[in-house]
Amino acid sequence: MGFLHGKRALITGIASQRSIAWGIANAMHREGAQLAFTYPNDRMKDRVDEAANTFGSNITLPCDVADDAQIENLFVALAKHWDGFDVLVHSIGFAPREALQGEFLDNLTRENFTVAHDISSYSLAALAKAARPMMANRNGAILTLTYLGAERALSGYNVMGLAKASLEANVRYLAFNLGPETTRVNAISAGPIKTLAAAGIANFRKMLEHVEEHAPLRRSVTIEEVGNVGAFLCSDLSSGITGEVIYVDAGYSMLGMTGV
Ligand code: NAD
Repeated sequence: MGFLHGKRALITGIASQRSIAWGIANAMHREGAQLAFTYPNDRMKDRVDEAANTFGSNITLPCDVADDAQIENLFVALAKHWDGFDVLVHSIGFAPREALQGEFLDNLTRENFTVAHDISSYSLAALAKAARPMMANRNGAILTLTYLGAERALSGYNVMGLAKASLEANVRYLAFNLGPETTRVNAISAGPIKTLAAAGIANFRKMLEHVEEHAPLRRSVTIEEVGNVGAFLCSDLSSGITGEVIYVDAGYSMLGMTGV
């Protein structure tokens, strides 16, 4: 019997089989969780339906996190399938493409800053708030995905680094707020992985090569490796961990100096 047997998990952020959310869904399914999925627009619906089918689920619900009404409706719709649930996976990030080209100040605008923070950080707290009545007092877990650019200045990551810093603070405040009702909140800081979102970062290929050359394991990580840690962090095996950022990055983040 898998270590997520009996748990129900709502997974956001599947855009393709390369998505980190796919790796997480795969591990959670293997460990016995029942899954439900969201898609952000009609264009993505078929793809997410297909993913759900792969993971033995027939629950796919719309949710563009830019829209308050869609966040609210998501849980009204989910309540028709489940009377409560245990795991919320937030695997969503977005910044306007031009903000991830050039240097930090080159394409910095109030609009780019606002969109990056809204979609990549605010959405975590908004989903957690709307999910709260269905998740409270079940030893549940919320998981999000962050990146080293939250705490180090990395070329090309730009305003997304600020949004991820906000996301990591969000994890701590949510963990503090929801702990008394037994809900844990953690983040995985993943090493670079070639996904659709990553393709938006101008320097991404160079970042990946740099990690492959310098990380202690001399490679980056896979969505399977992130998925396994995600499944652990959302299971009762990690019942003492909350408010943390766990690195799944082949050891890169602990290096002091690279290439010397
Ligand atoms: P991905 O493109 O597969 O997933 C990003 C997801 O965000 C997509 O499914 C997309 O539909 C969703 N999304 C964007 N705007 C949305 C909106 N308004 N409403 C609802 N959903 C929306 O890429 P990924 O790399 O799997 O990204 C998942 C998470 O992992 C992101 O937060 C990303 O920043 C983070 N992350 C990625 C890497 C990497 O190198 N790929 C490293 C560390 C962290």
